[in-house]
Amino acid sequence: MRPIQARISTGAMAHNLRVARTHAGAARVFAVVKANAYGHGLSRARRALAAADGFAVLTLEEAANLRLMGVDQPILLLEGLFGADEIATCAELDLWPVLHHPLHLDWLRQHPPARPLQVFVKFDSGMHRLGFPLADHASVVAAVRSVPGVAGVTLMTHFAQADEPAGVDWQLQPFLGELAAHGLPWTSANSAALLRYPATQGAWVRPGLMLYGGSPFADATAAELGLRPAMTLQSELISVQMLQAGEGVGYGQLFRAERPMRVGVVACGYADGYPRHAPTGTPVRVDGVASRTLGRVSMDMLCVDLSDCPAAGIGTPVVLWGEGVPVDAVAASAGTTSYELMCALAARVPVVET
Ligand code: PLP
Repeated sequence: MRPIQARISTGAMAHNLRVARTHAGAARVFAVVKANAYGHGLSRARRALAAADGFAVLTLEEAANLRLMGVDQPILLLEGLFGADEIATCAELDLWPVLHHPLHLDWLRQHPPARPLQVFVKFDSGMHRLGFPLADHASVVAAVRSVPGVAGVTLMTHFAQADEPAGVDWQLQPFLGELAAHGLPWTSANSAALLRYPATQGAWVRPGLMLYGGSPFADATAAELGLRPAMTLQSELISVQMLQAGEGVGYGQLFRAERPMRVGVVACGYADGYPRHAPTGTPVRVDGVASRTLGRVSMDMLCVDLSDCPAAGIGTPVVLWGEGVPVDAVAASAGTTSYELMCALAARVPVVET
């Protein structure tokens, strides 16, 4: 069998949820498990994160699957409705839709839910992606509340820069200021806001990334935030090459040896979800020793420096990210985020639950 595997730790996810709770105050916690739980497996995450107060997903299909798995906590549909007929399903399965567009109000009025429905109403406090304009809050909230069957309303917003120095205040203040008069529960915090800005707690918080052991911040590692990596992508050396000074390795010969050196070939490539744009120098661990990638990542293989691993040979284990190699460091080297790396784990990589 090809030696690559993703080891996914349910214990790490459960630990990270406990860390999220320590930051959440009295707020209830939605575990964000969209995109196959950021690549960790919906069913696995549901078990690992069973202590969450609710789950947040993208699609009705993910939500229905959670109900089939026996989830009886609240389930939030983060991006709302993709068709009028979904309102009936939400009521039937007790799913909580996010309304963010006038079209959703039309659908709700035309198809009032047959059973009591909790709805979240999303306002745009500056991200300018989804949400009603804050200035329209009075009419929007009144319209939603007037629909028969709407049993409760929670106000919602999403931050554009909670992970950056600009922070959340420029969005949080107008959001809370404009909407305070309604006296309704509200939710705003993703992982970054939850970790750094207690004022964002509200009634519910919505962490995703941190539950899987990723850090949202460039200036704080996941370990510094008390988080444990949930996914470790590991493989083995399947060949060892000797390079002479001046010889290159891989497509484009992007890396050339300055002196004679040993190079390991690892069974992991971009078709496994490893970022093709990771340059020479991206961190890896070979048999527990910190090392680096060399040259261009191929579809099924990549090359690593064995200079500090004289005993390494075929079968030597290599960690691409996870335990000992922060996924955030690999992502930073490749010019992307750990969100993308986790979500892009390929279906062909066997998963071992630990
Ligand atoms: N809330 C909303 C509306 C989101 O879209 C997301 C993720 O994209 C989250 C919460 C979770 O964010 P994070 O993974 O940064 O914690």
